[in-house]
Amino acid sequence: MKKVYKANILFTKERNRIEVFEKGYIAVEDGRVVGVSADLKSLGCEEAQVTDFGDCLLIPAMNDMHLHAPQVRNQGIALDLELLPWLQNYTFPEEQKYADTAYAERMYRRVIRQMWRFGTMRSCVFASVHTASTRLLMKLFQEAGMGALVGKVAMNRNCPDELAESVEDMKQGYESLIAEFEKPDALVRPIITPRFIPSCTPEMLRTCGQLAAKYQLPVQSHLSENIGEIMLVQSLEKEAINYGDAYNRYGLFGQTPTVMAHCVWTKGEELELMKHKNVMVAHCPTSNLNLSSGMAPVRTFINEGLRVGLGSDISGGHELNLFRMIVFAIQVSKMHYQQNHEMSFLTLSEAFWLATKSGGSFFGKVGSFEPGYEFDALVIDDSELNHDNYSLLHRLERYVYLGDDRQILHRFCRGEEIPEPKIIS
Ligand SMILES: [Zn+2]
Repeated sequence: MKKVYKANILFTKERNRIEVFEKGYIAVEDGRVVGVSADLKSLGCEEAQVTDFGDCLLIPAMNDMHLHAPQVRNQGIALDLELLPWLQNYTFPEEQKYADTAYAERMYRRVIRQMWRFGTMRSCVFASVHTASTRLLMKLFQEAGMGALVGKVAMNRNCPDELAESVEDMKQGYESLIAEFEKPDALVRPIITPRFIPSCTPEMLRTCGQLAAKYQLPVQSHLSENIGEIMLVQSLEKEAINYGDAYNRYGLFGQTPTVMAHCVWTKGEELELMKHKNVMVAHCPTSNLNLSSGMAPVRTFINEGLRVGLGSDISGGHELNLFRMIVFAIQVSKMHYQQNHEMSFLTLSEAFWLATKSGGSFFGKVGSFEPGYEFDALVIDDSELNHDNYSLLHRLERYVYLGDDRQILHRFCRGEEIPEPKIIS
């Protein structure tokens, strides 16, 4: 049945322009957008019952292209370390707790509730090495009705013994998750997730590549985040031309849809390889700043035609709110601009597009309100911020910079309104 919503509708069809329909209408059928228009007649919906959201903003929901669900307890702490000591001292000890599914359930319910609050309806998520708690996380996303690609982490070296899994156990764990969750059109699916090259032996990486090929599953990992990490990868994978090539040699770099977090130091041949293999960058500006990793050259990526989305990367990043990631992405691009005026900084429209249509493309037709797109949407009451007749574009900008979760009144994923997920206190 067709549903029609009325509100101030804003979305980005192209990265340089925000489409605006003041008090416009959007028609949705079977979870997908049929059309957007200034009037009911041209939508062919004159008979339809209209849900009127008054003066609210209606925008596409957020897509978080990179986060670690088991690091929710570490959000906002231990940010005085760089990547490698931070992993050893904080991340790995916390992830070990996810052998206990009761602990995992308490924490995973929290992270899903937080994502819901901030209007993130789709995500690419790292779980831990544990199959049982990864399964639980997938069940909880299903229960919530929110879309997620969830990766059981593959890891067997340079980590505590408790987190090292044999290649055979990793493979069996994946196959049980694939058997249970991998269905056409599933909202929650597995994604092959080698933690990063230093955490996986060649055999582990090869097996990950074989799983991705056999089951046609997407791949996620980390790439060129930090100089020390890149040097470590060079010493481990001597035949690889660069870090990206190390993944590529194992079938983990665009052989199936692939998203790589960070890419702070990606350039030259690595950048060309990403472009050639259609690998998406998950740009995680807060994480890159917190861990002193650097500033990813997003303007270059966009100009070169690379696919880019935004990621919160908790707990390297401290924020799950993707609207803040839009702001940080713009600010980081302005620091690049300071150093080189040929690198123009990101506009609001471009950064908003990264968080919606550009990132969303990893999940299919997600992140826009063009016909055929899945209706993932947020209804925002910004009246607190709109005390002096701002234009709709300025209202969107103020919400991005100043808004918070209390102003999101409704959240939709694939056309369904998503109620607040339950937590265990
Ligand atoms: Zn990460």
